[in-house]
Amino acid sequence: MDRLLEGLDPEQRAAVEAPRGPVCVLAGAGTGKTRTITHRIAHLVQRGHVAAGQVLAVTFTARAAGEMRTRLRALGVHGAQARTFHAASLRQLRYFWPRVVGGEQWQLVDRNKLRLIAQAANRAGVSTESDSLRDLAGEVEWAKASLIAPEDYPAAAARTSRDTPVAAELVVQVYRTYEQLKNQAQLLDFDDLLLHTAAALEEHGEVAEEFRDRYRCFVVDEYQDVTPLQQRVLDAWLGQRDDLTVVGDANQTIYSFAGASPAPLLNFPRRFPHAAVVRLERDYRSTPQVVTLANQVISSARGRPAGSRLKLIGQRPDGPRPSFTEFDDETLEAAAVARRTKELLDDGVPASEVAVLYRVNAQSEVFEQALAEVGVPYQVRGGERFFQRAEVRQAMVALRQAAGHEPSGELPKVVREVLAGIGLTDDPPAGGSAREKWESLLALVELAEELAGSVEGADLPKFVAELEMRAEAQHPPTVEGVTLASLHAAKGLEWDAVFLVGLVEGTVPIQHADGDEAAIEEERRLLYVGVTRAREHLWLSWALARAGGGRRYRRRSRFLYGLVPDDHPASRVAGAAQRAPFQREPLQRKPKPQCRVCASALVDARSVKLSRCTSCPSDVDEELLTRLRAWRADRARELKVPAYVVF
Ligand code: ATP
Ligand code: MG
Repeated sequence: MDRLLEGLDPEQRAAVEAPRGPVCVLAGAGTGKTRTITHRIAHLVQRGHVAAGQVLAVTFTARAAGEMRTRLRALGVHGAQARTFHAASLRQLRYFWPRVVGGEQWQLVDRNKLRLIAQAANRAGVSTESDSLRDLAGEVEWAKASLIAPEDYPAAAARTSRDTPVAAELVVQVYRTYEQLKNQAQLLDFDDLLLHTAAALEEHGEVAEEFRDRYRCFVVDEYQDVTPLQQRVLDAWLGQRDDLTVVGDANQTIYSFAGASPAPLLNFPRRFPHAAVVRLERDYRSTPQVVTLANQVISSARGRPAGSRLKLIGQRPDGPRPSFTEFDDETLEAAAVARRTKELLDDGVPASEVAVLYRVNAQSEVFEQALAEVGVPYQVRGGERFFQRAEVRQAMVALRQAAGHEPSGELPKVVREVLAGIGLTDDPPAGGSAREKWESLLALVELAEELAGSVEGADLPKFVAELEMRAEAQHPPTVEGVTLASLHAAKGLEWDAVFLVGLVEGTVPIQHADGDEAAIEEERRLLYVGVTRAREHLWLSWALARAGGGRRYRRRSRFLYGLVPDDHPASRVAGAAQRAPFQREPLQRKPKPQCRVCASALVDARSVKLSRCTSCPSDVDEELLTRLRAWRADRARELKVPAYVVF
């Protein structure tokens, strides 16, 4: 059989082999959706149905896009684009800019965004405390991602029962002023990248034609999280064509607060009645123990749309039971996570196979400290930080300078030489900050290798341009080390060992979701996303006080109800029962040992070891015994008594 079809189950194969045209894969976490689309791309390219360069695959996080590129490379596909919606749009906009706008290219608003929002808020007379600024920025982003103009915001917010943190009229004013200030300063925010890209294709026929000539086959991973704005870009890319493969899982919709909706995924078969629709249920990622927990988490979700009620069926061999641990404070929690991580690494688990996942980025600090203390290398997801690191900025300067000179040999070699000039050694330093710096520089070399493998004629100037684009789009390369990431950033990814930390009320679910059923359900889905990232080891933990043992006692997350097994030490923490009354799983009692001959209960150790009463004969005919057991079971049923009293 074709190598690309090996290792796929029949449903996955059907999606891979479907002819060019609309394809929709609706399936749960870990069922091989991403695998299916990468194999589909490889299959189409290998069969000559499409050229690699004509494929544009999009997803939602930089890391997931990186993962897709890695998988495509491993399948021998070079030159297919796999990017986030933003990175793809940024690239296109930069290319088409001279024709559709002209003049100097506008810069990304980046960290100045909150400053502009603050100015706009000031003019509207709204509080400029950082929390309310973030709320306002969130509302503006939601409106833009939902294709809602400032004047339509109040009606739209009311229609969607949006729990607006500030009066709708004020949002309108801030939104309008922010847009004016931004345009005057010739800046673009992330949503503008998409808006301008869509407009360029919608309004400039020759641009659209050139684009559609270049890209002919579109693939969207994690389609359950598409926003109306992203859908508009996608439609502009497609034009009248329908060569679109989408995969997604409505149970993993975690961006609806930002305007995302699973509706386009669930409606896809209606929009394209001739689409090949495939459902997958077998979970290849996680052990049955993790799968069971994932099913439990999501089964209590309310209002699940039809089409999302699939139950995962674990395919892997048994593994350890997920563990639940309660700590007195966050410092102890972090220290235990770091200790356990170190043990895993000492046992040979690669650092890149371990992740610590939390709800909000502010939680990372205490875990960073604890990992640094035990000398475990780590990387924090959330791209912006990578390009702000001192060594990365230094590397960019050195690479830019070198790019201005005569180019000499292969790109990765050149990059390595330039970076050697600022301290990249062949072997990694032992640990600490030197090791971290080394890992960042090595990540740049690996990126150069990736570019050299996927773009023809990749040279230093092209590499520098790629780095600049990634810095703008907050699209960092992968750095070796234990991953620290928010649950949002972890979507689509997998690790051998996952720590889900900080599972307390107010964090999971996040405080502002309280009282809003839809928001609570989204928080539950986030936990589901977290649980389903683990291949094998899964630790869930929470701490009753903040780092440093602040006085305020916290309660474990409501989502843990019914998940923490009864015999778990967490349930024995003094006072825990009063603080968080738990509905626990019924105690899993071990079956009492019975005599294999007479079926009476065995009480002494010797009988238990022999599996029979010491008075029963040891040499009983097995066949006779089987008949005897069947007869006894029948009699017991007849007499309505336990089997061992029948003799
Ligand atoms: P998510 O919803 O989390 O994005 P997914 O549906 O995209 O998950 P993948 O990441 O594609 O799932 O696959 C999960 C894991 O299972 C991967 O390690 C993948 O290689 C493996 N896998 C998928 N299909 C098969 C298969 N048919 N046989 C063996 N392993 C498989
Ligand atoms: Mg996936």
